[in-house]
Amino acid sequence: MNRTLRIGLTLLSLFLLQNIDIGQCQQTRTKAEIVSAFTGRSPKEWGVRVTGVRTRLKTDQKVLALTFDACGGIRGTGYDARLIEYLKNQNLPATLFISGRWIRANGAIFNELVSHPLFEIENHGLNHKPCSVNGRSAHGIKGTGSVAELVDEIEGNAIKIEELTGRRPRYYRPGTSYCDEIGVEVARALGYEVVSFSLPGDGGATYSKDQVKNALLRAPASSIILMHMNHPEGETAEGLMAAIPELRKRGFRFARLLEYDLR
Ligand SMILES: [Zn+2]
Repeated sequence: MNRTLRIGLTLLSLFLLQNIDIGQCQQTRTKAEIVSAFTGRSPKEWGVRVTGVRTRLKTDQKVLALTFDACGGIRGTGYDARLIEYLKNQNLPATLFISGRWIRANGAIFNELVSHPLFEIENHGLNHKPCSVNGRSAHGIKGTGSVAELVDEIEGNAIKIEELTGRRPRYYRPGTSYCDEIGVEVARALGYEVVSFSLPGDGGATYSKDQVKNALLRAPASSIILMHMNHPEGETAEGLMAAIPELRKRGFRFARLLEYDLR
C-alpha cells in the first residue's frame, strides 16, 4: 500500500469514527442527563391538551386516524377480538397504543397484532401511569412521581416493544392521556412525541353503540380518534361497525399515525 493511500484510508476512518460518535451523542441522552436537565422544574399545565401534545394529523385531506388503547390492569387486560377482526376484514389501518402491563397479560395476542401490517404499535406506558413529573393523578390513577420514574415509564415500555417488534415506537400516549408540559419535553428528549386525541370515540369504552357511532360521524377531517381495544364487554366494536360504512360513503379514508406528521 503506498503512502498516499494509507494516509487517505486513515483520514477516512477518522472521519467515520468521528461521525459515528456525533450520531450516538445526538441520539441518546442518558437517563441521568435527562433527570438532571428536568428535575426541579415546576409544571404549570395538567390535562390531555397541554403545550406540545399532538392532537391532529397534519393534513387537509379527508382522513381519520383510528387509535385504540390497550391499558392493562385489573379491569383493563381484556381483548376485543371482534373489533380487531373487523379492522382486518375491512382493511382498516389503525394505531394501537399498548401498555407494558397489557403486553405482559396478552403475549401471544400481542405477537399476532405485531405481525399484521395494518397495525402500528405505539407506546402506552410501562404501567399505564399519567405522565407527571410530580405525582399528579387523573381519573383516580396516580401519575409518575418524578422525572426518573417518568423516564422508566416511557422508555421501559419502548424497549420492550422494540425487543418484541424490531421497531422502536415513535409516539407515546400516557395512561389516561393526562400529561404535564414538562413531561412532554422529557418524552421529546427520549425521542418521542406525546399524542392524545382530537376527540374521544368511546368514552373509555363506556359509550353505547349509538354514542360511538355519533362521535365518529361528528369527527372533522384530520382527527385522531381515541377508542379502546381492551373492553370486549363494551360496545366500541358495534359503534365502529355502524359508523364506518357511512364515513366511507362520505369520502373519508383511514390512516395510521406514522403516515402523517402530527400537529
Ligand atoms: Zn389507557
